[in-house]
Amino acid sequence: MFPEFTLRYARLPERFFERFDPVPVPAPRLVAFNRALAEALGFDLAAFDEARAADWFAGNAVPAGAEPVAQAYAGHQFGHFNPRLGDGRAVLLGEVTDREGRLCDIQLKGAGMTPFSRGADGRAPLGPVLREYLVSEAMHRLGVPTTRALAAVTSGEQVFRRVPEPGAVLTRVASSHLRVGTFQYFAARGDQEAVRTLADLAIERHYSQLHPQLLEREEGDDETSGRYLAFLEAVAERQAALVAKWMGLGFIHGVMNTDNCTISGETIDYGPCAFMEAYSPTMVFSSIDEQGRYAYRNQPWLAQWNLARLAETLLPLIDPDHESAVKKATAVIEAFEPRYEAEWLAVMRAKLGLTREEEGDRELVEALLAALEAGRADFTLAFRRLSEVTQENAPAFHELFENDGALQEWLPRWRERLAREGVGMEEIAARMNAVNPLYIPRNHQVERVIAAAAEHDDFAPFEALAEVLAEPFTEQPGRESYALSAPPAERVFRTFCGT
Ligand code: AMP
Ligand code: MG
Repeated sequence: MFPEFTLRYARLPERFFERFDPVPVPAPRLVAFNRALAEALGFDLAAFDEARAADWFAGNAVPAGAEPVAQAYAGHQFGHFNPRLGDGRAVLLGEVTDREGRLCDIQLKGAGMTPFSRGADGRAPLGPVLREYLVSEAMHRLGVPTTRALAAVTSGEQVFRRVPEPGAVLTRVASSHLRVGTFQYFAARGDQEAVRTLADLAIERHYSQLHPQLLEREEGDDETSGRYLAFLEAVAERQAALVAKWMGLGFIHGVMNTDNCTISGETIDYGPCAFMEAYSPTMVFSSIDEQGRYAYRNQPWLAQWNLARLAETLLPLIDPDHESAVKKATAVIEAFEPRYEAEWLAVMRAKLGLTREEEGDRELVEALLAALEAGRADFTLAFRRLSEVTQENAPAFHELFENDGALQEWLPRWRERLAREGVGMEEIAARMNAVNPLYIPRNHQVERVIAAAAEHDDFAPFEALAEVLAEPFTEQPGRESYALSAPPAERVFRTFCGT
């Protein structure tokens, strides 16, 4: 059933990983399987056997051709550097080539204690596994670059966190698991050769098309130095685009540590993440983020901070002359700000139904956000129902606002601006509904389905929610409740890593 493995990472020098076989679990049971993704990855589903699949996705059997490794990485966690984190509970089976010819990592998360576990149990509770499954797949459907979820199994044993919970293993698919922290691991050891190997691997896997054009701009430079500066710039571009998408969806990652910042530009590690309901730019969910470091509005600047940490690891490759390397890298890091601002404005323009670019657009967007904040309006529904204002009175839109003074001033400005788009209101509404989702993984819904699964072994609510989230932009009759914000008693303000 498994497609053929290519061992790209496991063929790097031994210091990049620890060989490690997943630790078998007592009673693997497949509780979720992503058939569409499996097909895209080239799995042979005609040969699908549920019991065998459960063994593979639990780590009780290693598929032919895989060579499991735990990857080495370091990371800044909440600003503090840890030189050795690594996969403490994850194992990379190897890479497979998907139907479009791209290499994808297949990783089991929750596969037991590895040499990087640092005293923790190497396991994952079912709750966080289902949360990552739902949210990562929802993000994919929302058009956000992300790791994917291929399968979830329960292990038949309990793991102990705040309370005992059923244990589980998630099969995660990523275009790679290279992180800023992977580069930091080797840079902190002064291993420049390894940093170069990693950069070359990352360019090969993620930036091979971009790279020739980017090099041209570096004319006159030594060829090699131009390559790594171009690489840094390319990663910065992807991160700017990624965070702009998060911001446009009200998504708060919650743990933007450098080990959770991918080189590919995919979202990774759905721990205490959440989608905002009432709009508030200072919103923080994660229970461990006491300083509000990873608040909604800080996310772009944290991505930039993480990129600066990546830049530091690349300095000797960018230019043998340290001062000159710093100058070049700094220019790239500083360019992140206007790059991000442009990405963000593009996202927000689209949310307002605008395709033309005009001078006052930024102020228009900011004024709407201020109105949302003043009215404590649900971020997702406000943008979604704004399209109704193009057609009629839109009471459902207005009732999202506790007070709509600022909004009343804003609406005529927007109407005036829309008139200059030169298309009919129906077309504007259709454009808006294609980018403003109706269904997002709302915290109370996610927690409800996790509770049913973990406490009552009932996975039907999980499956129903996953199905709704697969079509986030399409109105689904009979499923209205999934679109609504949490009733007061069910509001979630704190999320937990639960690792
Ligand atoms: P995360 O918070 O998932 O990004 O993980 C940060 C670090 O802690 C990584 O090195 C993980 O491998 C490690 N880690 C998290 N949870 C566990 C666990 N249950 N057992 C072992 N290591 C863990
Ligand atoms: Mg992590």
